[in-house]
Amino acid sequence: MSQRPFEIDPLFRGLTTLPGLGPRNGKLVEKLVEGPRVADLLFHGPADFIDRRFTCPLSQAPNGKMLTTQVRVEKHYQNERKSLPYRVKCTDGSGTVMLVFFHAKKGWIEKLLPLGSERVISGKIEYFQGQIQMVHPEVVKPQERESLEAVEPIYPLTAGITNKVLRKAIKSALNYVPKLPEWIDEAHKKRENWPDWDDAVRSLHTPESAKDLEPTSKVRMRLAYDELLANQLTLALVRDRRRKINGRSFISTGDLRKKIEAVLPFNLTGAQTRCLAEIDKDMIAKARMLRLLQGDVGSGKTIVAVLAMMNAVENGAQAAIIAPTEILARQHEKSLRPWLEAAGVRFVTLTGRDKGKTREVMLKQIKDGTAQVILGTHSIFQSDVEYHDLGIAVIDEQHRFGVHQRMELSTKGKGTDILVMTATPIPRSLALTAYGDLEISKLDEKPPGRKPVETMLFSQEKLDDLVAALKRKIAEGVRIYWVCPLVEESDVLDLAAAEERYDILKAQFGERIGLVHGRMKPTDKDEVMTAFAGGNLDILVATTVIEVGVDVPEATIMVIEHAERFGLSQLHQLRGRVGRSAEQSYCFLVYSGPLGEIAKERLSIMRETEDGFLIAEKDLELRGSGDILGTKQSGVTDFALADMTVHGELLATARDDAKLIISKSPELDTRRGVSLKTLLYLFERDQAIRYFRGG
Ligand code: ADP
Ligand code: MG
Repeated sequence: MSQRPFEIDPLFRGLTTLPGLGPRNGKLVEKLVEGPRVADLLFHGPADFIDRRFTCPLSQAPNGKMLTTQVRVEKHYQNERKSLPYRVKCTDGSGTVMLVFFHAKKGWIEKLLPLGSERVISGKIEYFQGQIQMVHPEVVKPQERESLEAVEPIYPLTAGITNKVLRKAIKSALNYVPKLPEWIDEAHKKRENWPDWDDAVRSLHTPESAKDLEPTSKVRMRLAYDELLANQLTLALVRDRRRKINGRSFISTGDLRKKIEAVLPFNLTGAQTRCLAEIDKDMIAKARMLRLLQGDVGSGKTIVAVLAMMNAVENGAQAAIIAPTEILARQHEKSLRPWLEAAGVRFVTLTGRDKGKTREVMLKQIKDGTAQVILGTHSIFQSDVEYHDLGIAVIDEQHRFGVHQRMELSTKGKGTDILVMTATPIPRSLALTAYGDLEISKLDEKPPGRKPVETMLFSQEKLDDLVAALKRKIAEGVRIYWVCPLVEESDVLDLAAAEERYDILKAQFGERIGLVHGRMKPTDKDEVMTAFAGGNLDILVATTVIEVGVDVPEATIMVIEHAERFGLSQLHQLRGRVGRSAEQSYCFLVYSGPLGEIAKERLSIMRETEDGFLIAEKDLELRGSGDILGTKQSGVTDFALADMTVHGELLATARDDAKLIISKSPELDTRRGVSLKTLLYLFERDQAIRYFRGG
């Protein structure tokens, strides 16, 4: 029913139609601005500007200042020696300036600055041997000074594209900027003193002072708000629609739960109990559950999930739990087996590895309901897997699922409750942009009795000392993870480094050492992991495959080689593999210097704190948001105008705004609603738009 409003058609034109952007340049610019539309180009704001507003008589020109003025060309000095510059003397009546050109062709200069002609010049004033000079003036033009762009915005560029080319295209694109109906609440806009959308876009490209370039300027705030509102509105719509798909009510006596709790060697923490109560409330309610269980590594998410799953099982429905990798699916099986057996619940573990007859049998059990709990990787959601009656799906996400996959998953069962578990503590702002469609439960308390991991920095040169110390530790019965250098973008090099380290350590420590890496066959990987978990190996050398979810409480030492190459969140995840028992654990961050500023800061943060939320905030400060969620390509948090490191507050406002909008007019059919649809189109929020097309 809804179609793209015609007003914004010009913004959807291909940017290659702009002057100066042919097929070659056009491609480069499309990549630079991350989109093919005129709108994408318009959202590419300048990072700096050159100010050509300053002028004064040459006789008073201050050293080092950018000066723009009109002069007459007086004399050319061509030097005999090629290595010396070509100089052109100009005057404005009050004084003279020497324009200096290195490696310039005579003919070119004569054409640019004919003797006796009037020219506007612009460049930096320097004093050289008492004479005012301008080396390679940036502008030399025959016209009047007034026609010059007094403030020239400088854009972030890419190889092959000059500022001039980009500026020209943008200037022409600005002609297409339409007047659009306002989608921001009038009172809100007034309070913030924000400009209209079209004025904002124009102002973005005509900065007048350094303040205009700041992300907190009125103009940039408004534009960022638009983008965040589009994002939050989409998520709110998705949530609203999914809620309306009727869920079911699971009311249970808690019998199965009690059987599991009876065999647990621990009591639930306060946070676990609270999160479970939040989940129960969702599951009892008729609307379907869409909840994120957010908890730092080792906070004990698994047991919470399992107890939640029992609500469904007790009601005769099935429960599934999906791990991001094969190893982790096996790990789930290992953790869950004693619990499920205690509760008398039948389960299968289905991974991509299961083929032929075995797979067939499992599929049958899933279909006829014999399997009450299904463990596995995403393969349990392949199209040939049919469920008898899937009541709840738990996704142990480790940020590898996007909104999109969550949607697909929900087609497996009617009104299936969904619980997403994520290990990385995500800063609130990011959680809102990536998971705004989910309610959030937080496990913000670690199981008791755990000592903080002692973290130490170690220079690579002192590795022998470390090895000697570790030998003593192994004699005491300690188990060690040894993570090998991360070589950017290359599994192959990662592997080579890990294999080399493995050989060296084997020579030093003997046979009780294993190696796992991403290219191993899953069965081989499992075998090594099992040997390590069972205490048959002292050292596990690994590439980052152990990053996620592995639980071997007896391992108390983590060595991370070339720690300076890892991001903060990654270091935190890795360190989270130890410190899982009452024993004192250690993490050795081995670095090889000299360290850059950011690397230094990262490592010292790691030494100072184990607070995952704090680390995540710092990580966000030190690098972009897309990196943290590992969703750079997914489009979930790729913002053109908003910057999560500064616009966190705006995001919270946008979320509240979006909620209110949806509660008042879920169909967006009010006057403001119609404008908001335009906003959604502008930011290509296809998912949301589809709803209005009745798709
Ligand atoms: P994560 O949140 O990283 O997935 P897990 O669920 O794997 O953490 O739990 C980490 C370890 O803590 C497991 O060995 C688990 O059995 C244990 N654990 C969970 N809850 C508690 C608790 N309340 N008290 C003690 N140990 C617990
Ligand atoms: Mg886990």
